[in-house]
Amino acid sequence: DSSQPVLYDYLFKIVLIGDSGVGKSNILSRFTRNEFSLDSKSTIGVEFATKTLQIGRTKTNTSKRIAKARKLNRHVAADCVMQNATFSTPQSVEGKTVKAQIWDTAGQERYRAITSAYYRGAVGALLVYDITKKQTFDNMQRWLHELRDHADSNIVVMMAGNKSDLTHLRAVSEREGQEYAEKEELSFLETSALGSENIEKAFQTILTEIYHIMN
Ligand code: GDP
Ligand code: MG
Repeated sequence: DSSQPVLYDYLFKIVLIGDSGVGKSNILSRFTRNEFSLDSKSTIGVEFATKTLQIGRTKTNTSKRIAKARKLNRHVAADCVMQNATFSTPQSVEGKTVKAQIWDTAGQERYRAITSAYYRGAVGALLVYDITKKQTFDNMQRWLHELRDHADSNIVVMMAGNKSDLTHLRAVSEREGQEYAEKEELSFLETSALGSENIEKAFQTILTEIYHIMN
């Protein structure tokens, strides 16, 4: 509704990437609508969904990547971020209101047919694998190449090992995930869209990192 005042300080576009079946659509529906579906097809077709949240001023993550990105470019992806000028509520002193616009692939990843348009303007990416499927973890390298080719070079990337609830089927240890993420200088969490574990935290982390790079 265009008559509604805009009630956020920043709008950040985040893209979800990773192999088909790892749980991207359910991570999105869990985060934005608190919904989970065992039937993957029912969630396909959403172009993007949004959620507005508060991010704190406290520096929760001082990763090498942030420091490096700051050094490289203080105005990282500034052209990709819409900064709102008309505040209709007093600004909170604790933090900023961020609207996350999260894009889902609608299944194109199956055909390796994700277009550049998908990545355009994205300031963050959540790179997802399935802890029960080793191949989806091995493909992280391919997805990082894809990001290098199509996304802004300063995009903030977070890696998520999803389906942490399926402990009995685990094929990738948390330590393997952590070590790979450290090597690539990415943030890392294990998540469960089914059990809601770390879903909110994953987005909080990525949005906070983006905010800190900009400020
Ligand atoms: P996408 O292809 O990456 O978008 O994956 P979907 O979100 O469609 O999920 C694929 C399948 O994995 C579906 O059957 C989901 O119900 C299931 N799934 C997604 N996330 C989880 C999770 O955290 N735990 C479990 N056990 N299953 C999940
Ligand atoms: Mg999907």
